[in-house]
Amino acid sequence: MISIIGAGPAGSYLAYLLAKKGKEVALIEEHEKIGSPVQCTGIVTSSIEKFVKLPNDVIANRCSKVIVISKNSRITANTDEVVMWRNKFDEFLANMAIDAGAKILTNHQFIGFNGKHSIKVKNRDNDETKEIIADYVVGADGPSSQVAKAAGLEPIKKFYIGMQAKVKLKTDIEAFETYFSNSDFPQFFGWVVPESEDTVRLGLGSSSNAKEHFYRFLEKRTDSKEILCWESGIFPLYDPNKTIQKDNVYLVGDAAAQVKATTGGGIIPSLKAAEILCGCIVNKKDYNKEFKKRKAGRELLLHLKIRNMLNKFSDNDYDYLLGLMKQERVKKTLKKYDRDQPMPLVLSLLLKEPRFLKFSKFLF
Ligand SMILES: Cc1cc2nc3c(=O)[nH]c(=O)nc-3n(C[C@H](O)[C@H](O)[C@H](O)COP(=O)(O)OP(=O)(O)OC[C@H]3O[C@@H](n4cnc5c(N)ncnc54)[C@H](O)[C@@H]3O)c2cc1C
Repeated sequence: MISIIGAGPAGSYLAYLLAKKGKEVALIEEHEKIGSPVQCTGIVTSSIEKFVKLPNDVIANRCSKVIVISKNSRITANTDEVVMWRNKFDEFLANMAIDAGAKILTNHQFIGFNGKHSIKVKNRDNDETKEIIADYVVGADGPSSQVAKAAGLEPIKKFYIGMQAKVKLKTDIEAFETYFSNSDFPQFFGWVVPESEDTVRLGLGSSSNAKEHFYRFLEKRTDSKEILCWESGIFPLYDPNKTIQKDNVYLVGDAAAQVKATTGGGIIPSLKAAEILCGCIVNKKDYNKEFKKRKAGRELLLHLKIRNMLNKFSDNDYDYLLGLMKQERVKKTLKKYDRDQPMPLVLSLLLKEPRFLKFSKFLF
């Protein structure tokens, strides 16, 4: 029996993959309703379709344009992005797992281990605890992973705060906006993502004073101060040296900090990681080594290096970067390779525009 804690994208997709391989899987989720509460913008590149075919009711909107804004510059580039209803996406993946044969236990919280091959879960209705036999235990329980803690794995060292709210705002429904300035969005960026004709998901990531920056951004971008709902959370920073397997305990998704450090996007990386972990469990491979060696691990390392570089940018550097990105040949490359294919993207950008190398000084 494999017990997977957390029915977010990482846990449900892994449960689906393992059940499809004929494994006995129990998926344990502390919330009554899968996918709630939402703490996510739900925007992904069309690369998502390499993993799952999204049903129409999961898709809130599609954006064919991205507007990138720095202090004194802006560009519009073509793109192909899906804005999802994140709660429906999580439900869809959990249903895929159930259809493949996984058992699901909602409203049950993992509270610890009971020896090496058994876990304790608590029914949140009546506080009753029960034991579940588990040959393997997977923590897919998000950035504050209880599984990691109970297994004695070190917690994630660095986070960004992600503050996001749904607000009324009429924008071009086909375009999402990203804002770059290390003074307004320290070490991260801001975004406005339209989910319907008159509603957007407006937010930012920040390494400090997120609340202050959020309200300043809200004031600048909208007249309406009415928050329809909050969808905030934290972004763990990828750490290639993090231990993600200890004996029969594994971590995946945000619990393993498998998130793109450039954007905080963790949905597609968590699906890629689930595929690697499934292979490691089935073929009894060392997941710590395997993940770093595989393309998905190398991609996250590249995102981390780019993040470390961006963190040293001044507002003038962002203006200069956007100036280079305005060129048609660069825009074409940006459309050809999305951010889920960072290796060919970076290489092609350097070939098309060697002046990007100016920024390599920030790598060291
Ligand atoms: C503000 C914000 C915006 C974001 N926007 C995007 C975006 O646009 N695109 C993108 O790709 N990524 C985005 N992300 C990141 C993305 O949300 C995460 O990377 C993704 O949710 C990771 O999936 P996961 O399955 O690893 O973890 P989660 O989605 O966090 O799922 C973990 C699950 O475990 C359950 N759980 C936790 N503890 C226990 C326990 N003890 N027992 C049982 N169950 C438990 C939780 O209830 C939850 O269902 C955003 C994050 C934030 C904070």
